[in-house]
Amino acid sequence: MIPPGCPVCGKDCISDAEVLIKEAMGRFSPCEECLAIPLDKRLPPPGLPPAEQCPVCRKRFIDDVFSHCHLIMAEGGVIDAETPLGAIGTPLISPGTNMSAPPFLPERSLVLLTRNVDRKTAERLVAEVPEIKGVIGDKGAVPGISGGDFSLTSENELLAGCDVRADIFRTSGGAFAVYKQQSLMHIEFPRGTGPKIQAVESMILKEKPDVFIDACSGAGTLGLVAIITGVPVVVLNDAWYPASFWSAINLYANRGILKLDEVEIFAPPGDPGRRISPDSVRIAESSGNNREALVLWGDYMNSGNNIPKGRRLATIDIFGKDNAAKLKKIISDWKAAYGGDAFIP
Ligand SMILES: [Zn+2]
Ligand SMILES: [Zn+2]
Repeated sequence: MIPPGCPVCGKDCISDAEVLIKEAMGRFSPCEECLAIPLDKRLPPPGLPPAEQCPVCRKRFIDDVFSHCHLIMAEGGVIDAETPLGAIGTPLISPGTNMSAPPFLPERSLVLLTRNVDRKTAERLVAEVPEIKGVIGDKGAVPGISGGDFSLTSENELLAGCDVRADIFRTSGGAFAVYKQQSLMHIEFPRGTGPKIQAVESMILKEKPDVFIDACSGAGTLGLVAIITGVPVVVLNDAWYPASFWSAINLYANRGILKLDEVEIFAPPGDPGRRISPDSVRIAESSGNNREALVLWGDYMNSGNNIPKGRRLATIDIFGKDNAAKLKKIISDWKAAYGGDAFIP
């Protein structure tokens, strides 16, 4: 089963990855009638009325969208009129992809992450700025579990609209999409994630595992790479519920690209009442084309028999990779418990 609409807003925020990737080409490009006057982000905008959407393609240049947001935020008293344009927040476009030029934004294509907003102003931004899909209150922390300590968690707050967005990643075997509810998940930049994807591909080619485990899967990016690279059995595991849940959604949304026939999701789309599970819970599984994929929610050291047998290779993508002794212990603990090889990407 899969929720028929977006798990956050009920609308059509999630489409099959093939469709999303195809539509992303040209999605942020101007038409011949589009106009762009780049603004200096270090200065406040010139204080003119908001520029109109292009009459032909209905897109607007990102600086015009930001100016429109600046105007509303200044009216709402959450910033002052002298706040530089670039200081109102971080624009997260959907889908996120490598871009060579600043984007022209179609409707509902931007999630704004900002420290400077209250709920009332956030609701105005979603209602009055057509390009804004959702507004997240930025609490200044990386959402999820900090450094493997289950008692240290943080999340940002969706204040208005919907914050479900996707990023598009590329492997040697083709592109895929990763959806997430952004207020509950860390930000992945397609360019920055490239080296991890390459590390996973080359370890798989070297070790030829039967079973690949993405032990701290986040929304599933590296596990999906392993499926595309051809590992017969892939496990995506995370102790943070939103990560497991979105890993399951991403198996489903990418099932065509991954050549999986069936994806069955056992997780409820809503809140299971807790964010973290010490025990290992099966969230989704799929099969087809002689491959298997499994999503687990829980502490990976407690996955036990949920990790299928075979020649195993695990990637453990924890936050905070500065403590070499700790990383060494994480790898040796994994190997002692499950055998096979393991690496930090
Ligand atoms: Zn939505
Ligand atoms: Zn246009």
